[in-house]
Amino acid sequence: MTNMTNMTHWLSVVVQTPAHSHVAGPLTYRSEVALQPGALVRVPLGRRELMGVVWAVLPGLPAELQRSDGKALDIKPITTDLGITPVTTAWRKLIHFTASYYQRSLGEVALAALPPQLRTLSATQVERRLKRVKPFAPTPVDDEIAIKKVALSAEQTLAIVQISTQKGPFLLFGATGSGKTEVYLQTALQTLQNDPSAQVLMMVPEINLTPQLEERVRERFCHLYGDNAVVSMHSGMTNPQRLKSWLAAHSGTARIVLGTRMAVFASMPHLKLIVVDEEHDPSYKSQDGARYSARDLAVYRGKLDGAKVILGSATPSFESWYHSRPVAEGGRYQRLIMADRIGGGVLPKVLTVNMEHQPKKTVLSPLLLSAIAERIARGEQAMVFLNRRGYAPVLHCGDCGWKSECPHCSAYRVFHKIDRTLRCHHCGFTERVPRACPACGNTDISTIGRGTEQLEEHLADLLSGVKRPDGSPVRIARIDADSTKLKGALQQQLAQVHAGEVDVLVGTQMIAKGHDFRNITLVAAVNPDGALFSSDFRAPERLFSLLMQAAGRAGRDAAQGGRSEMWVQSHHPQHPLYLALKKHDYPCFAEDQLKEREAAGMAPFGYSALVRAEARTQEAAQAFLTAASAQASSLADEVVGFEHITLYPAVPMTMQRIANVERAQMLVESPSRKALQQFLSRWQGVLQTTKQKGLIRWAVDVDPLAI
Ligand code: ADP
Ligand code: ZN
Ligand code: ZN
Repeated sequence: MTNMTNMTHWLSVVVQTPAHSHVAGPLTYRSEVALQPGALVRVPLGRRELMGVVWAVLPGLPAELQRSDGKALDIKPITTDLGITPVTTAWRKLIHFTASYYQRSLGEVALAALPPQLRTLSATQVERRLKRVKPFAPTPVDDEIAIKKVALSAEQTLAIVQISTQKGPFLLFGATGSGKTEVYLQTALQTLQNDPSAQVLMMVPEINLTPQLEERVRERFCHLYGDNAVVSMHSGMTNPQRLKSWLAAHSGTARIVLGTRMAVFASMPHLKLIVVDEEHDPSYKSQDGARYSARDLAVYRGKLDGAKVILGSATPSFESWYHSRPVAEGGRYQRLIMADRIGGGVLPKVLTVNMEHQPKKTVLSPLLLSAIAERIARGEQAMVFLNRRGYAPVLHCGDCGWKSECPHCSAYRVFHKIDRTLRCHHCGFTERVPRACPACGNTDISTIGRGTEQLEEHLADLLSGVKRPDGSPVRIARIDADSTKLKGALQQQLAQVHAGEVDVLVGTQMIAKGHDFRNITLVAAVNPDGALFSSDFRAPERLFSLLMQAAGRAGRDAAQGGRSEMWVQSHHPQHPLYLALKKHDYPCFAEDQLKEREAAGMAPFGYSALVRAEARTQEAAQAFLTAASAQASSLADEVVGFEHITLYPAVPMTMQRIANVERAQMLVESPSRKALQQFLSRWQGVLQTTKQKGLIRWAVDVDPLAI
């Protein structure tokens, strides 16, 4: 839009400024051309040129920028208007909320939500790329064919009707294999059919774990709406790919955006439906920059955009479970239940093995081993998981007590037998395994504990005599972060499992999540006890959901006649967590845990934030937090409800030192979210001005997942 009168327009522009810098708010620029709020521009700042978002068009030059003689100060003009349709008001509100709720600057959040490549392209280059995402004419297909493909179960039908006729947000509490994905797809289809411009956002925890889903979505929608109708958004994409997806979503060409947590910020002007699959998954919470929860933001965004929101899980987060209690009790989400598996498959029988009754060094109890052997002989598959990769977590000298500590971290280096290295999983420090004890020269050094690599070796050994139905030897494969480092390796390994080229699959939690394996009839958790006694109050929730998810990989095919099993080896088989697991009783487990949390004032009954500090020394890290905490009382008059804020003492983090950086944290709690928010936003100023020698950085984590 050109403005003929050539008058000056004053714009407030959000740019990325360094974290914690004093230029935190939007900056003022001028333009001879009228621009709308939400326009993407480039502006000068010092000697640099930065990308920015026009946040507001000012009615005139703000008073504080006017000189007393009435002449304008040297307000710089914007350099470039990228010429893209402005981002919507709802999008800007989402960014604004994220920045203020998670205590970061507007510029940081806004710019992180835009594709990096936009910062470097000229308006002409952007225009050219925009042309490339224009919709192709879709191949016309009879709608009937598209919809009729699946006969929905009664539970699916009911869920879909409820979603289409009610407001939500919805919590779809559906057993593993109950067909939640089908509900998402059908609801998405309805949404697109009811509104020729509607867009749908589907979020998944980790996209490379579910390549199947992307295929399913493409297959379902591309023939109806064109090849550009479905785009992905995740951090594994290159910058050009990200820009392409972003432009497709922003221009409305992409009707479905499938992505990880970052996709919650996708610019989608016609957003009508948001799905958050496996909503309990911790990877929805960002662990750096603005530590946002994409699940929570999805619910908020739904309100801003007038889009329906579906959160789905077989083991919802306790927060979502609590929010979906009956309306009469104050529930805000609507709970939809799908208890049955599609096609009559039953959930596996859960068996616990009391490891107290096994000889001391038993890795796999004989009963479990013979159950696995039985599966192989029948031509079925088994999955064994252990949440620890490598061969052994510690290498140890029995003579002098040396252990394979990492010199840079408060952790042991893990022994990887495959390449004979000791590797730190925190800082990456790697050395060849020493032939003898580095401290005393003893050549007889040994391992403590075991990881997936050793488990794989052990299983191969124990099962060497077992034959498959055709008489061929058993085939064992391992999937973990080590086996899947190369691009495409995971997909290839998963494909082998699906194709039945593997009999026993060993792995970390990577294999426990989401996969629709058809022929697995036994799942075993070898040593899951660790989380039972963790100091983190969310550890039981995570363990329970991991085991339920793992159990969900077994018995997906009704033809197996309900003989699928989930084995848990434990020293505490009577623990309430395992008893609830045996009954597949998530609600019972959740009620129990929620009662405990209510008594302790923990989420969702109380609110908290962590301030983490990193410094050269532990003393410096703690001193910084203590100093900032000491000044908190000066805010008493400014914060309503200040008396309900509790600041705990600074303590070292569980992982106290990583890569020679000392880490400490301080917990801030309040039963009132509002008071906590007000306090944090004021306290930011204190944190920013607190000086401490040796301090490297600090960050606030609101609603932290791990404490
Ligand atoms: P969930 O996401 O709840 O674990 P999925 O949506 O992956 O379950 O469904 C499990 C399996 O059942 C998938 O293979 C899916 O294709 C199939 N499925 C889902 N709904 C139906 C249906 N109505 N009829 C037949 N098969 C279905
Ligand atoms: Zn020694
Ligand atoms: Zn290290």
